[in-house]
Amino acid sequence: MADPDWMKEVRALVGKEYGRVYGWDPVNAPMARQWAEVVGVDNPIYAEGKVVPPAMLQVWCMEGPQTNHYPPGSTDENPYEALGLIEAHGYPSVVAVNSELEFDRYLAPGEKLYYTTRLDAIGEEKTTALGTGFFVTLKMTYFSQQAAGDEEVGRLLFRVFKFKPANPVKPTADKPAGPPKIKRPAPGISDDTRFFWDGAREGKLLIQRCKACGALRHPPGPCCPSCHSFEWDTLEASGRGTIYSFVVMHYPEVPPFEHPNPIGLIELEEGTRLVAQLIGVKPGEIEIGARVQVEFNRFETGAPDGNDDIVLPQFRPTAA
Ligand code: ZN
Repeated sequence: MADPDWMKEVRALVGKEYGRVYGWDPVNAPMARQWAEVVGVDNPIYAEGKVVPPAMLQVWCMEGPQTNHYPPGSTDENPYEALGLIEAHGYPSVVAVNSELEFDRYLAPGEKLYYTTRLDAIGEEKTTALGTGFFVTLKMTYFSQQAAGDEEVGRLLFRVFKFKPANPVKPTADKPAGPPKIKRPAPGISDDTRFFWDGAREGKLLIQRCKACGALRHPPGPCCPSCHSFEWDTLEASGRGTIYSFVVMHYPEVPPFEHPNPIGLIELEEGTRLVAQLIGVKPGEIEIGARVQVEFNRFETGAPDGNDDIVLPQFRPTAA
């Protein structure tokens, strides 16, 4: 396929060398040990800590959890600028095609690495099952900093396909594009706990009671912790109680919950406690010992089993 005109500007970048990107930490045994554990490498040569797994090459100069946060002295050029230009011309998708690592020798703890990047090639426009686009190849060369002159220790070839999808998903007029609304996580419901959730659906706060000794227990379980009896029935609690303790979740903010999110440990007047969300109270005004009353509220959940809602007991402070 003949190149579109704008592609000349992008092809002019082929062969460009981008500056150094340094590693935050020197090659070190703790990172190597953790990497080997995660990847499942148990070669005893690495347990000695004298050399590190060669396949970690790329790891040593990664930016870490913060995007584009590289150590001082690293280049501020963007080695991926060609991908950005191609994208700007209507090729939004990207898929990594292949990655090839070459190592010249083992690396040892204490070595300080950096790499440079070369935009190696941009293929002719191609149509694949995924769509139409360009294969873009980058080559990173890794060096170990040495007093006698930096030493090349390995290379990483990284190829991606930057493309327009063959069958793009188009937003329809009545269904605007955007992330789906996140729903409440559904509780795991078992034969031991189903009565509690079924009760909530009927507006009842059911507490498990041992048939042998009469002890109340929550959360529900198959066996009485006091007398070990498996016989039980339920008691419908009044829903009145006091705040025995509480926490206010500020962070992390997990949708769909509102934050700050106050959660109480409620002591029911029947004598057992349960954890539930507090409502109708400002987080700064929650008091231990405050009287509360249960309230049942329905929420949509993301449960895949067809039960797409849940009724939850929540507690609201009442006038003293
Ligand atoms: Zn019992």
